[in-house]
Amino acid sequence: MELIRDKLELLRVLLNEQCSNLEPWQIVSRTAAITLIASYVYSQATHKYLDVGEFHWSEGTQSGTVYNCNDDLTQLMTEVYGMAAWTNPLHPDSFPGLRQMEAEVVRIACRLFQGGPDSCGTVTSGGTESIVLACKAYRDYARNIKGIENPVMVVPVTAHAAFDKAADLLDITIKHVPVDPITQRVDIKAMRRAISGRTCLLVGSSPQFPHGSIDDITAIGKLGLDYDIPVHVDACLGGFLVVFMKQAGFNIRPFDFSVPGVCSISADTHKYGYAPKGSSVILYSKPVFRHYQWFTCPDWPGGVYATATIGGSRAGGIIAACWAALMYHGMDGYVECTKKVITTTRYIAEEIRKIKGIKVMGVPEVSVVAIGSDDFNIYALSDAMKKRGWNLNALQFPACLHLCCTMLHTKEGVANRFIQDVKELTGEILANPEEHKGGSAAIYGMAQSLPDRNLVNEITWIYLDSLYAIKKK
Ligand SMILES: *Cc1c(COP(=O)(O)O)cnc(C)c1O
Repeated sequence: MELIRDKLELLRVLLNEQCSNLEPWQIVSRTAAITLIASYVYSQATHKYLDVGEFHWSEGTQSGTVYNCNDDLTQLMTEVYGMAAWTNPLHPDSFPGLRQMEAEVVRIACRLFQGGPDSCGTVTSGGTESIVLACKAYRDYARNIKGIENPVMVVPVTAHAAFDKAADLLDITIKHVPVDPITQRVDIKAMRRAISGRTCLLVGSSPQFPHGSIDDITAIGKLGLDYDIPVHVDACLGGFLVVFMKQAGFNIRPFDFSVPGVCSISADTHKYGYAPKGSSVILYSKPVFRHYQWFTCPDWPGGVYATATIGGSRAGGIIAACWAALMYHGMDGYVECTKKVITTTRYIAEEIRKIKGIKVMGVPEVSVVAIGSDDFNIYALSDAMKKRGWNLNALQFPACLHLCCTMLHTKEGVANRFIQDVKELTGEILANPEEHKGGSAAIYGMAQSLPDRNLVNEITWIYLDSLYAIKKK
């Protein structure tokens, strides 16, 4: 911005005062000036667009969403993205360096998750793509290796909705397994009962999104081995925390490839890997699973076509930025960040437990603190918090809300401000319950209790439609 402004000023002088005696090179500059003015106008306009919105997310008022945003990292990510902005990993012959970067990101991630020499994977555009690809791999593995025509995946109810999306896209049946009401970890006995001759995949989360609990991966792995079914661990959210927790001085229950039976892991570099949005990794214990992820089309008139992931053309800039984020932090950097995030999460959980009228749900093992209440409609708290600038996640079955702690919440004073606001507002709601019955508290409460789930779907469509509305003048 500054650079553009300086250059603009120079050019303005040039254009206004020296127009009469312009040399040919200065006429070229006039074109440059027009380009610069245009870029200045567009950056100003972009600022205007980016500045709308009522939440000051950069001050740590937002759950999850932005995982880190220090100035150094922002500058590095912008520069690296810029350097690779026009690259496309679909053409490794033209961009061999990009291929190398992607291969290195995968290898680093495999090592972090204790993968053996056969472990492998790909970089994807995000957690959802990583999960969809794993489900595709196991669908085709079940069909080709085990002759299962109509495969079923067995998934905890708390697993991410991306598994439901994958089931929908890939035409796989999905069977949801209940969780323990206290720990929110999947009920292993119920998972065993859900297994049939058609099961193509068992899933556990490390940690799951709603409450931050880690499923019993050891037990799920054992089920997988007992019944010869592949096991996927979804570590999209906290993958780049859990791998550093031991070194950061925290106990962590087993979750990686060292657990017998674990065949694949998804982990988002664009969450606690602190890379810009648009990258994640899907990792497999051995190449046979990854082979079923590949897509090949040998007969296309456009040539023999093959892609590793869902995309055709892909953003090389994002892969370069992801690679640079890993290099920039290094082991030490990640361990340091992990220490801060986990310490802050545990501090918040501990303080929330002391507040009368609310309770911590599940086990805040990693970076999520879920808050519920036996005394009032918990969504009233999220409404009240919103009025103070906090944007928290509303969860259902059971009703609760959560704060997903990021580097932004580890800054001086943020956690205490959060705790203080929760304490004050909980007290206020308990004192005047009638005043807190309307708003989105009522809507969320209703959405959860409506027996007709299709009606909820239709209301949700209206919401999605509204995302594409243009304000009329
Ligand atoms: C975020 C998340 C995902 C999906 O990732 P996207 O990057 O949003 O597509 C999957 N699983 C868990 C546990 C997550 O938190």
